[in-house]
Amino acid sequence: MMIDTDLEILDHESSRLLKLEAAQKTIPFKKVLIANRGEIAVRVIRACHELGIKTVAVHSTADADALHVKLANESVCIGPPSPTESYLNISSIISAAVATGAEAIHPGYGFLSENGSFAEICGQCGITFIGPKARHMRLMGDKAVARKIAIKYEVPVVPGSIAAGVSPEEALVEAEKIGFPVLIKAVAGGGGRGMKIVHSADEFTRLFEQASREVEAAFNDPNLYVEKYIPNARHVEVQIIGDQHHNVVHLGERDCSTQRRYQKIVEESPAPNLSQTTRNAMYESAVRLGKSIGYPTCGTLEYLIDPRDEKFYFIEMNTRLQVEHPVTEFVTSTDIVKEQIWVAAGRELSFKQEDIKFTGHAIEVRINAEDPYTFAPSPGMIEGYHPPGGLGVRVDSAIYDRYKIPPFYDSLIAKIIVKGRDRDEAIKKMRVALSECIIGGVTTNMPLLKKILEYDQFVLGHVSTKLVENLFEEEKRKSAEEFSKQDLANNLTQLPKAA
Ligand code: ADP
Repeated sequence: MMIDTDLEILDHESSRLLKLEAAQKTIPFKKVLIANRGEIAVRVIRACHELGIKTVAVHSTADADALHVKLANESVCIGPPSPTESYLNISSIISAAVATGAEAIHPGYGFLSENGSFAEICGQCGITFIGPKARHMRLMGDKAVARKIAIKYEVPVVPGSIAAGVSPEEALVEAEKIGFPVLIKAVAGGGGRGMKIVHSADEFTRLFEQASREVEAAFNDPNLYVEKYIPNARHVEVQIIGDQHHNVVHLGERDCSTQRRYQKIVEESPAPNLSQTTRNAMYESAVRLGKSIGYPTCGTLEYLIDPRDEKFYFIEMNTRLQVEHPVTEFVTSTDIVKEQIWVAAGRELSFKQEDIKFTGHAIEVRINAEDPYTFAPSPGMIEGYHPPGGLGVRVDSAIYDRYKIPPFYDSLIAKIIVKGRDRDEAIKKMRVALSECIIGGVTTNMPLLKKILEYDQFVLGHVSTKLVENLFEEEKRKSAEEFSKQDLANNLTQLPKAA
């Protein structure tokens, strides 16, 4: 019978062998297939080429002219435009990897990056999945399970009960126990889909049923849970990175409170106006959870902070590379993608916690091809492109002049990331970068990003998930005032002149 000590000896032995094998390698892998598109595929291809790794791009028929296809050493068309038939098509992707002799697959973010079955199939085909084990994805991918794990390892979670799979009537009982307002969320959630704020018992059943239909359509899983709604919350997350030898290190936090429709558009590190005590407690809880589950790669623990008392609550863990990872790379002088590739090949992390020094302040903005106010996507041909540049300015993008943004995928087309000595310098740098940036031919959210960078709540660091809503309300109020001033002026000019 296998006892714990035997398992530990085995584990220790395999870790020792892995370390030995990795130490003999001069490059982590000879060839890596990138199962993604857009800016993240370009980001990963760059990291691979710096490491001396040959790259294979995969693409749909709509992406034949995409930048990631042009930059990779080889490319394989994996299907028609629809993501289910191409970037989510496991058999096509595995066939492409086998046919090209790729030793590993990097999934980027989105698509198959958190799909446990995909990671398992990679393993069965002798291909290294650059990410966590299927076990980690299954544990943390189901938000209700992730909540239980967080509770087990004493990571604070938002007050609330799990109502997965229960009827609206039973869920209402839970909601009343928690106290309104509550938030209905999808167990399989992502991208804020299906989330509903409920203010009273009267509207609960209707919204619960509506959410259930929406998430069934989006995730093929109607299960929901209910959690206390925290008004004016801040979203602050901790980046961790581990290896296969039980080392887990944190790389600080990112404030991602500035969102539209529950989706991040501006991220920064460090989080402004946050006490060092809270910061340290968040780091400590993130590393504790990472170590407890033997987390072997990069991942992010997302928390909400209640601004009234600075209490923080775990909401979910993303077991993959995050869109906003460059912000952390700037303030920690690390390359998260290269590190992720090396640890997948069995090497130990190249740094210890005490080696990580945080310097300066970094901000990222996400440029989306969308209407800045309605957020309606705006695909089409780019006519005229000039990215910003200069000291401490980084642009991660996959667009070029005369590139046609296809309508089938995410609207993110570029990220501008800046680093200043402090927050004030970073804000000024971002304003200049945005003023230089030209993306012609399509509508983008740049006008909104520029306004955020000028908005006093942002400038003062009073960030919250309500910031964009507050900005819109203030604009409405100002234009109403302007309108009534104009109205008054018009009326005055129409008054009969005094004799
Ligand atoms: P998803 O996985 O769908 O993106 P998250 O759980 O990560 O959902 O939450 C996305 C965003 O929704 C958060 O950043 C925050 O703005 C808001 N949110 C989530 N949970 C709560 C809550 N309990 N109270 C207030 N806002 C919340």
